[in-house]
Amino acid sequence: MIIDSHCHIDFPVFDHDRQQVLDRALQNGIQNIIVPGVSAETWPRIKEICTQYKYLHACYGLHPYHIDQHTPADLLLLEQWVTSENPVAIGECGLDYFLKDLDKTKQLDFFHAQLDIAVTHHLPVVIHSRKATEDIIKGIKQRTGLQGMIHSYSGSYEQAIQLIDLGFYLSFGGAITYNRATRIRELVRKLPLNALLIETDSPDQSDLKHHKQRNEPAYIKSVIKTMTELRSEKMEIIINQTSRNCMSLFSGINDSI
Ligand SMILES: [Zn+2]
Repeated sequence: MIIDSHCHIDFPVFDHDRQQVLDRALQNGIQNIIVPGVSAETWPRIKEICTQYKYLHACYGLHPYHIDQHTPADLLLLEQWVTSENPVAIGECGLDYFLKDLDKTKQLDFFHAQLDIAVTHHLPVVIHSRKATEDIIKGIKQRTGLQGMIHSYSGSYEQAIQLIDLGFYLSFGGAITYNRATRIRELVRKLPLNALLIETDSPDQSDLKHHKQRNEPAYIKSVIKTMTELRSEKMEIIINQTSRNCMSLFSGINDSI
């Protein structure tokens, strides 16, 4: 069983052929997909899609890309949604210091607030981190017992080990299929398999084969193939272990199909 641990299948870019995209995912052995929320206005459509397809699993959160539009009322609403809707995680939340026009102070406020909600509700967090790994680690360290994943991990090896020691999983996607991505490929080679997850981040971060095209869950096959080339374990072991990692992080997804 393959799990796409990060996929925005709710995005409007899939509206005209979502069923076909999901059919292709199932045909390629993907049996569970984690769907993170990026802003309060996207939560209802995630709820609807995840109710329709039992192998899609909802997370609700406020993404740093949309920091301008998030309000304190969204955080209150998030508390309500978490209580009433039973998501598998809080997210996607995080910090993005790569994009310079995003208000850093507001990002930190919303990130910390969402970590607190996760702690209160005993839920894992799905974290987006770009050029911000130190502040991400700081936030996690302040909250004992918090669990989660860093999606599309791009920090250093040393930071990766710190995050793993804190109980976090690191997820990798299409970016590792590019030969020039030497730094993250080295991470995939060296990090312990029991800390790794695989994802597509669809519709973004396509693999080399589908460069500049819309990404979709079925293309996770390229991520698995690259991981198999980079590591010593056989493909089957990589699939089984990353799925097991995902199931131990997000509860209730093992028997979806
Ligand atoms: Zn995402």
